[in-house]
Amino acid sequence: MAVLELAVDRQFQSMLIAEALRDLGALWAMVSDPTDGKTVKAVLTEYLPTLIQTYGEPLAVQAAERFEEIRSLAGVSGRYTAVLGTAPEADRINAHAGRLLEPIFRGVDSNPDEAFRNLEGLTSRMVLEQSRRTTTENTFARGSKSSGFVRVPSPGKDNCSFCVMLASKTFSTKQNARAGTRFHNKCFCKVTPLFEGVEIEGYDQDEYFRLYQEGL
Ligand SMILES: [Zn+2]
Repeated sequence: MAVLELAVDRQFQSMLIAEALRDLGALWAMVSDPTDGKTVKAVLTEYLPTLIQTYGEPLAVQAAERFEEIRSLAGVSGRYTAVLGTAPEADRINAHAGRLLEPIFRGVDSNPDEAFRNLEGLTSRMVLEQSRRTTTENTFARGSKSSGFVRVPSPGKDNCSFCVMLASKTFSTKQNARAGTRFHNKCFCKVTPLFEGVEIEGYDQDEYFRLYQEGL
C-alpha cells in the first residue's frame, strides 16, 4: 500500500500563512489609530481580499498538483487534470471582516488587539480556502475517480472536538460533503482526497471516532 505523507504540504501551508499574517500586520500598522473605524474599513476593503488571494493561490496550485500525484500514486488509469478551486470572493471576505470588526467600524467600545487576533484567524482560514476547495471540487469532478475526501487534523496540536468528529468521517458524496467543508478560524486540518490503495500517514479514522465518542 502506498503511503501519502503530508509534512511537506503542511510546511508550505504554514509558510504561506506566516507570510500572509506578516503582511496583515504591516497593513494593520498602516492604520495609525486602530480605533478609527473608517480608516480601518477603507484599508481592509482595499487590500485584504488581494492579500488573501495572493497567498491562497499558490496553495491551491499545490493542492491541484498533489491531487494528480496522489491519483497516480494510487495507479488510477487515464489522464486527469486537476482544476483550481474558486478563490474566496472579495465581497465575502469584506463581509466577514466587517462582521468581525463591527464595533470598531461603528466607533463603539472595542478592543483593537482582540479584533486583530480575530482578523488573523479569518485571514488564515481564507488563505486556506481555495486549496481546500481545489481538493473537494476535484474529488467530485468527472473522471477524477477519487472515492471521497477526509479531514486530517494537525499532528501534535490540540484539535477541537468539532474537527475530531469530522476527521472520523469519509465524505464520499457531494451531499454529505457540506459538513466536511466547514472550517473554523485557526483550523489547520488538511483536506485530502481518498484513492484506493493509498494510505494517509498518521491518519487513523477509527481512532478519531473513538476520541470523539470519548468526548476527547
Ligand atoms: Zn480543524
